[in-house]
Amino acid sequence: MKYSLLIIFVLISITLTSQTPEQHLKKELLKKVANYVGVELPHDLHLFCLPCKLMMKQVQKFSKNTLLAIVKKEYLALCPHFYNMPHCLGKSRQYHDEFAVHFIDNYLKPSNACQLLGACKLEHHPQTLKEYINEVMHDKLTKEQQQSWKEKAEALLINNEDYKVVQYTDLHIDTEYSEGADAFCDAPLCCRKEYGTPKDPSKGAQYWGTLASCDLPFRTVQNLLEFTKEQIKPDFILWTGDSIAHDVWQQLESNQTVPTRIITEEIQKTMPTTQMYAMYGNHEAYPAEQYDMIGESSQWLRDETAEMWKQYLNQEAYYQLRRNGYYSQVDEKRNLKVIALNSQAYDYDNFFLMEGVTDPRGMLKWLVEELYDSESKNQFAIIIAHIPPGDISCNTQWADRFSVVIERFEHVVSGLFYGHTHSDQVSHIRSRIDGRYIKTLYIAPSVTTFTRYNPSFRVFYFNGKTNQIIDFSQYRLDLAKANKEGQNAILNWNIAYNFLEYYGLQSSRIEDVSTLGYKMRHDDEILKKYIYSYATGSEVRYNQHLKDLKKLFLKKATRNYFICGVETATYDEWFSCIGFIESLQDSAQIRYKIYELFYGKWLKD
Ligand SMILES: [Zn+2]
Ligand SMILES: [Zn+2]
Repeated sequence: MKYSLLIIFVLISITLTSQTPEQHLKKELLKKVANYVGVELPHDLHLFCLPCKLMMKQVQKFSKNTLLAIVKKEYLALCPHFYNMPHCLGKSRQYHDEFAVHFIDNYLKPSNACQLLGACKLEHHPQTLKEYINEVMHDKLTKEQQQSWKEKAEALLINNEDYKVVQYTDLHIDTEYSEGADAFCDAPLCCRKEYGTPKDPSKGAQYWGTLASCDLPFRTVQNLLEFTKEQIKPDFILWTGDSIAHDVWQQLESNQTVPTRIITEEIQKTMPTTQMYAMYGNHEAYPAEQYDMIGESSQWLRDETAEMWKQYLNQEAYYQLRRNGYYSQVDEKRNLKVIALNSQAYDYDNFFLMEGVTDPRGMLKWLVEELYDSESKNQFAIIIAHIPPGDISCNTQWADRFSVVIERFEHVVSGLFYGHTHSDQVSHIRSRIDGRYIKTLYIAPSVTTFTRYNPSFRVFYFNGKTNQIIDFSQYRLDLAKANKEGQNAILNWNIAYNFLEYYGLQSSRIEDVSTLGYKMRHDDEILKKYIYSYATGSEVRYNQHLKDLKKLFLKKATRNYFICGVETATYDEWFSCIGFIESLQDSAQIRYKIYELFYGKWLKD
């Protein structure tokens, strides 16, 4: 048994090596494995493909259960040193098994393994970024053409009023939140009855939410919606996903969209006439992150969300969401197309992508078609999605190509809105041709407190005659004050800052906003302001970052972490911006690089 696994691991490691190993080494290895599983190989190399496939079929069958058992055993031996046993069992079932299954299915798949071993001819060749740039950019409008396009587009908006857009993201309500329950338990999500009551009541869950590893009680969301209706009166709402609590190790597929439904119904009840554009996040998939972009096993999520958001969607958008898990819809009054993308297409924690990272479910190709359509109609477009392209879980190959598409249609796209990180951020797409800044990505902080964040949401102000963002207000709940006042408190959702004024920016044009990174590099006060808001004003988070800034060996890493985050919009750009030594401060970087090897290359059609 041990011998077979050794061979399989050698085989895997060879398939993962980026340099092509010697052909005869592959042959010898193949012969050994073939011998072991009882398949006879012909001497003629050119006839290798079919026998190789037959052999790999055997290997795949043979290895699956053995490998799964080993992964499980090793994980369950280690995990209890860090977490309690029910958590470990749940995680093992949901993630490690998922990972192993996708890994075996993909890498030991006969067609894949035999191609990588050189026994079968390559069916698809990798496509370089340069080739993609040539393909997408060949008909980009000149500067003059873009200018006249804009004039025509604005002429269509001449009578329009300015408008307000609310963005909610990462609400993560916890339907089992229990006031007084231990907020500092040993599970990854606390503030629940099952973890008991602490001796010191100040360590217990608070009425409106708790700055700990806790998600949010639903009442705080209800209050937020009331506040929005009374005080903001938005023209429309953007909702960028992640609504379920973080108890990922004990979730069930049948309950996965329950929080999304509860919140949707509450929004409909509170603001029945307000239009909303919504998209789900990585946590709505089951298990969290695991979303089948290629096959149909995640159809239940597309069906359920399309049904619950039906009243906001026109017929075409409803069918798009149901069929593909992404959609677009035009706000006719504003001649504005809202494009909702599904970020599971580029989330490296989604192991389904091991089946192929090349434009999963054709979403990028579809995006290009949608933007061509808007360009032809002199119509502006905004894009919403859950995970921002520069995130640590985002596949850089996708993010690079997305940046190219945005550059091609830079005159059409007037805003990009994300969530997922729970931090208050912006970042920037740069040109793949000349390096100049193209667009700001607006990454909003979470409504949930998880972990140790103050509940937050954003209000964007748009110029109705140009469909461009004028500015945004960052709203934040003073949680400590609210909890002190208890259940009768009138919650203060205060404006924490207005974006342009806070950072001393001239305007929200790309030329001005993109100076933020430079300002942070050269002015420590601006850097600290950014870090403070990044931490949503949470003293405990902010103080930790300040401490890191004072430590010699962490100072540069911490500075770069924030500055590079603002200046880049793909993981690889960020990685090279922070510097190699600094990147070693965080094991997540190493994990990303290992993932990169597993997921393979973007291929030609
Ligand atoms: Zn989230
Ligand atoms: Zn998320």
